[in-house]
Amino acid sequence: MMNRVPEPIDVGVLGATGTVGSLLVRLLDGHPWFRLREVGASPASAGLALGERTPADSMGPLSAEASRLVLKALDDEWSSPLLLSALPSSAARHTEALLAERGHLVVSNASAYRQDPVVPLIIPEVNPDHLRLLEAQADRWPGGIVTNPNCVTAGLATALAPLHRAFGLETVVATSMQAISGAGRPGPAAGELTDNVIPFIANEEDKIAEESQKILGHRNPDRIVHGDFVVSAHANRVPVLHGHLVAVSASFRNVAGPEDVEAAFTSFEPPEEARGLPTAPERPIELIPGDARPQPRLDRDRGQGMVVTVGRVRECPALHVRFMVLAHNLIRGAAGAALLNAELCHAAGVTTRVPAR
Ligand code: NAP
Repeated sequence: MMNRVPEPIDVGVLGATGTVGSLLVRLLDGHPWFRLREVGASPASAGLALGERTPADSMGPLSAEASRLVLKALDDEWSSPLLLSALPSSAARHTEALLAERGHLVVSNASAYRQDPVVPLIIPEVNPDHLRLLEAQADRWPGGIVTNPNCVTAGLATALAPLHRAFGLETVVATSMQAISGAGRPGPAAGELTDNVIPFIANEEDKIAEESQKILGHRNPDRIVHGDFVVSAHANRVPVLHGHLVAVSASFRNVAGPEDVEAAFTSFEPPEEARGLPTAPERPIELIPGDARPQPRLDRDRGQGMVVTVGRVRECPALHVRFMVLAHNLIRGAAGAALLNAELCHAAGVTTRVPAR
């Protein structure tokens, strides 16, 4: 457990009107360490109140205080030391570097910098030590950038972490069934997805493979040596609102069977750095018994959407073991992941190392 409660600081949200950004705004309401002070979105939204630009959705209303915040343009001056980014990757590449250059710590959902060798790609329960890469950013920016993984990788890499540690992953075949909310707004048209599955999501399969290898890689000492295992991903969009389900087959360097894999899931303990963070669930992985679990509707909200559920662990006739993994794509896969990374950074004392200009 953490033995120190850090001082609260001001934070801003970039892309605050989008699917992930508006959820971040809600998760920040009443947060013990962070006070939401600033929000920004595209030039079309700048100058308007956040409440006017947040579409009604199933996530519930914004607080009155958040609704009144006036949206900034991204290149305006920001005063908060910590900025949470939910921008599309195209806008993130320029903006996040600009804000790191101005001394802010940017904790980002976007893919723009995830594979940059000096940018940490973090799941706090899996690889919090990768945060040390921030030291290697000092030559580039006075601030910094920290990223969380893509919404499938968030669940998959969490589930793979105890298996890689115990048995050494060799090959992973992962077939995703990804929810509609993962596509952002406006998302696919209803007619496209009703009675249908779309067997393609642009760039997703490479992200799932490369991000899993980076997260499960080791630090040596200021770069990441990617995990030496093969990932073959198949990405599909399915007519589910929230929650990405992944069917996984895996083989290991040290042969393991279904019971060994179940034991690795149930005994997984998050490292010291992740325990006691406000958004961290008590147990990041839950093994669900039963032949037909996990299911998005039944299991995605466990631990306020931060628990990764696994189930149907059984022998695989092609590799060693197969199982299912489920994570809430907007919470564990996006807004909750970024918030947890921000908490890890704040607990580590790196959010305020450089004052914002
Ligand atoms: P979204 O619903 O399309 O929202 C995008 C946000 O960015 C909006 O606030 C939008 O503002 C703003 N924006 C768009 N273009 C901009 C520009 N050129 N300059 C400044 N602001 C701009 O997208 P999302 O699904 O929330 O995803 C946000 C990021 O998180 C993406 O990088 C995505 O890949 C990543 N992510 C998403 C998920 C998921 O499950 N949805 C999971 C993991 C990661 P306006 O309202 O003013 O247009």
